[in-house]
Amino acid sequence: MRPHLALIEDDPDFALMCRSYLEREGFTVSWAMDARAGQGVLREAGVDLAVLDLGLPDGSGLELLRGVRSISRLPVIVVTGRGAEADRVAGLEIGADDYLVKPFSQRELVARIRAVLRRSQPPETPEVLLVGSLRVDTGARQASADGTLLALRPKEYALLEVLAGAPGRVFSAQQLLEQVWGAAWQQSATVVEHVYRLRGKLADLPAPAPRITTVRGYGYRLDP
Ligand code: CA
Repeated sequence: MRPHLALIEDDPDFALMCRSYLEREGFTVSWAMDARAGQGVLREAGVDLAVLDLGLPDGSGLELLRGVRSISRLPVIVVTGRGAEADRVAGLEIGADDYLVKPFSQRELVARIRAVLRRSQPPETPEVLLVGSLRVDTGARQASADGTLLALRPKEYALLEVLAGAPGRVFSAQQLLEQVWGAAWQQSATVVEHVYRLRGKLADLPAPAPRITTVRGYGYRLDP
């Protein structure tokens, strides 16, 4: 899979040069010229990392970063101009994963992107998750309870896999949005709807199966 990058940068010459280099290095690149367009790109599902220039024409690179960080752990590398020390520090305080100061080489950009992506990889999940009578086969992307296969849509399966990966742990709707949909700007109603359907399918199983408990004000957990 080619990692999908959001490149939020207002200098077109620099952005186009970065984009063609990154594409040759095996990345998919969505380029946005200002903070507003950047938000649009990030709203689309499936961005794996953002390269964010803090000096944008609509002036809100830091604000954009703050917005991202308040709801998501999307890896972000901030880019600042020389002398913008305060921006760089603010960027790291808000939660950027790394920073680059212009001018930098394309090779350095790629090395930083790869390092941040490596650090942000979730730990390997075991092939089969067992929770009570529930068996989640992460290789086959199938779940069953006492031999009865659950008919799940892809997102329902993904939701169940996240919950079954940590039975008893409470996940907030935002965490589930991030992990299952990969997009922090989706509506939490999406989660509610999928939990509702998944809960129904678990309850319809002939044998007693784990259930999804709503923890009021916090989120959801899977109980064996
Ligand atoms: Ca700029």
